[in-house]
Amino acid sequence: MSCLFCKIIDGTIPSTAVYEDELCYAFADLHPQAPVHLLVAPREHIATLDDTDPADGALLGHLLWAVSEVAREKGLASGYRVVINTGPDGGQTVDHLHVHLLGGRPLIWPPARSTADTKRALPMEAPSCLAFIPAYAGCCAYSSSSSIP
Ligand code: 5GP
Ligand code: ZN
Repeated sequence: MSCLFCKIIDGTIPSTAVYEDELCYAFADLHPQAPVHLLVAPREHIATLDDTDPADGALLGHLLWAVSEVAREKGLASGYRVVINTGPDGGQTVDHLHVHLLGGRPLIWPPARSTADTKRALPMEAPSCLAFIPAYAGCCAYSSSSSIP
């Protein structure tokens, strides 16, 4: 299996685990977009949310419960965001279903419509490394919804 997340789940590629059970594995995102940025993935390889069917309902519910459990363990009592990027327009870059858990700071809504929007929303003093924030991360702390037209 050449899937990156399958290799992370089976331990071939190292990761920082935060929760695991017989159905899912939760680990720290390599490029965190918030103080808490975790990924919860099913152990079973399912490429995208679009590849699920009614038989996956219980698994999908379990993934969301696991996210809430991890959020409680991380002390995100003031809230957090749950994201499932799906397909190219959804900004999915790893084709193994996973749920993003973002928290630890206020998150803007709605997300930026494009990478250009996100870059426009960056304040001048923002470090240049933040220019590579993907469009889906319009929730970035350095964005301001008031500056997005
Ligand atoms: P997607 O863009 O598919 O919704 O999310 C994929 C996520 O996987 C991204 O947030 C990216 O930072 C993260 N990621 C990519 N490669 C690795 C890796 O090797 N290890 C970990 N822990 N996260 C990764
Ligand atoms: Zn996989």
